[in-house]
Amino acid sequence: MDNKKVGLSDTTKAKTEPKTFRRNPIIGTKYTIAISSAKGGVGKSTFATNLALALKQIGCEVGILDADVYGPSLPKLFAINEKPETNGQKLKPIVKYGIQCMSIGFLTEEQTPMIWRGPMVISAIKTFTEKVEWKNLDFLIVDMPPGTGDTQLTFAQGIKVDSAIIISTPQEIALMDVKRGIKMFDKLGVKILGLVENMSYFIGDDKKKYEIFGNGGVKETSIEFKKEFLGEIPIDTEVGKAGDNGKPIVEQNPNHTISNIYMSFANKLKKLYLDKN
Ligand code: ADP
Repeated sequence: MDNKKVGLSDTTKAKTEPKTFRRNPIIGTKYTIAISSAKGGVGKSTFATNLALALKQIGCEVGILDADVYGPSLPKLFAINEKPETNGQKLKPIVKYGIQCMSIGFLTEEQTPMIWRGPMVISAIKTFTEKVEWKNLDFLIVDMPPGTGDTQLTFAQGIKVDSAIIISTPQEIALMDVKRGIKMFDKLGVKILGLVENMSYFIGDDKKKYEIFGNGGVKETSIEFKKEFLGEIPIDTEVGKAGDNGKPIVEQNPNHTISNIYMSFANKLKKLYLDKN
């Protein structure tokens, strides 16, 4: 639109266009992919860890940054109990299943509640992005906290995030917040790679398909906001069990139907970012 013609002032123009910020790349990484969700419990961390493992399986160097400072899940999902080493300047990621890992949960006791205010969260994110010795990563997968808070803003404004993937279940209540999340990334100028519907359906022992949380809502939201719909992941009890055992499904059973779905997401990312060069 021609702003002069419609008489928009510069201030109005600034409000309507995505803002641009000076964003620093994370040293030691080629591409940073944020895994985001509007609500907790929709499977964001399960997605982040399995996507990372799938990327590793197709030959990429991968790191996971668990940026969910209030509810870190990487220590449990990857069964990591050790503390990262430091040389006084930088923290060394813990390598598990061939993946470089960092989480606030490695530095605190499992049951310590993180009662932090915004500035402390921002400072933790800065430490994780500036003071971790990530090495030769093709992809750094960032498991974001749910919602649209300080972590999202710190990432979106100060760090070069190549794209965000939004995970949701098909429930109305989750979708309402997804729309808010899409608007936030759009406003901050972070590219949304697409939306994934997790827990889309369940196949019973009778082989029937049960759409427990409804179905198709995430696809509809993608269409409404002109974003790509990346696909759906069914509910499968093996996924939950594998996570609880500290060995996500892609690592535990790479040939499982759900693992194949994660492999297809990984292949898509690799093709989009690495194979283009
Ligand atoms: P979030 O990171 O969004 O809070 P989690 O990844 O911790 O969510 O997942 C919440 C719970 O749902 C976990 O117990 C996880 O094992 C389970 N879960 C996630 N995705 C699936 C799935 N496709 N099928 C079955 N259980 C799942």
